[in-house]
Amino acid sequence: MFNRVALIGIGLIGSSIARVMRRDRLAGSIIACARTDETLEAVKRLDIADDTTKNIAEAVRGADLVMICTPVSTYEEISKAMAPALMAGAIVTDVGSVKESAIKTVMPHLPDGVHFVPGHPIAGTENSGPEAGFDTLFEGRWFLITPPRGTDQTAIDKVASLWQRAGSQIDFLEPEHHDQVLAITSHLPHLIAYTIVGTATDLEEDIKSEVVKYSASGFRDFTRIAASDPVMWRDIFIANRAAVLEMLGRLSEDLAGLQRAIRIGDGETLERLFRRTQEIRRGVVKAGQHIPPAPEKSDRDT
Ligand code: NAP
Repeated sequence: MFNRVALIGIGLIGSSIARVMRRDRLAGSIIACARTDETLEAVKRLDIADDTTKNIAEAVRGADLVMICTPVSTYEEISKAMAPALMAGAIVTDVGSVKESAIKTVMPHLPDGVHFVPGHPIAGTENSGPEAGFDTLFEGRWFLITPPRGTDQTAIDKVASLWQRAGSQIDFLEPEHHDQVLAITSHLPHLIAYTIVGTATDLEEDIKSEVVKYSASGFRDFTRIAASDPVMWRDIFIANRAAVLEMLGRLSEDLAGLQRAIRIGDGETLERLFRRTQEIRRGVVKAGQHIPPAPEKSDRDT
């Protein structure tokens, strides 16, 4: 499918797609780029790339596919560093969780004749790094493509076929719409989890131990989500601040309504809401999006 693939960042997502490309022989060669020796040593040990480097320009030189798999705050420096070394006709794609800012940051740096295909796999776990990846991570999940107007169709098709080989279904969204949808389906749930676990952490020591002891009562699922990478999530909230703040405003209004219903003992309002949300869960199950990603027995996506 590709002669030479450069993966800029080879953590959970980069290493999982590298494993798919190795398994299905989709790339003549794969070069992995990261910041630390530790990560590049792990890549060698796991044998998921043909070559490794810390130098971004060296990584992308001669690559017909460049995939950015780093936290979104790094996009500016990465785009600047790779731009002079990109081959004419190369496809640059990414997997970042926020799309409008990705397009605004990357595109101005790309030379003419290089195609940018922004993408986002709706798949993940709370683990990071090359060791956390696995080749079935994307199976049965969506891969969302948010191409700016005028994007080369052949480039879009090639990126789409790669993710189809990884087992994903492809969909196309406007970047702004993507960011709004993900704000409610992914970003807000993480914010709530970080808040709840943070609140519990602030409780006095003896209560904290009880919190851990009885965590199976619901808290456990929040702790799993709140164990997600702090840098990645810091970047997502800052890059998608408008949509997150909009959804947070709506949530606060709904929460205030619930608070009132509880205070005045309005059981009817509470039950009506809980029945409606039960329906949503049935819809998620029907769409097959409740299935835990292997090999981890966790069931969250970002
Ligand atoms: P990760 O496991 O933490 O891996 C990040 C990788 O980026 C590491 O290899 C890291 O190298 C490298 N890196 C960081 N800064 C760099 C820089 N300045 N130059 C070169 N390499 C750099 O992260 P991930 O979970 O795979 O997430 C990667 C992207 O995918 C993010 O944009 C995220 O929004 C998106 N995403 C994540 C999920 C998820 O559930 N995790 C799901 C969908 C999309 P070192 O280890 O050497 O620092």
